[in-house]
Amino acid sequence: MCLTCGCKMPNDRHKPGDIIWEDIEKAAKNWELSPAEPLHHLDEAAKLVKK
Ligand SMILES: [Zn+2]
Repeated sequence: MCLTCGCKMPNDRHKPGDIIWEDIEKAAKNWELSPAEPLHHLDEAAKLVKK
């Protein structure tokens, strides 16, 4: 899916600001991580942000 709305189109950016799989891959590459790792970090960050 675009990682925002859950439509199952990983690289379909419907609106500016939507997060797509390509963004995750790019971010992961910056840090030589697998794409799963930034997703895990997102999840961790989300827990910290929403209190
Ligand atoms: Zn979508």
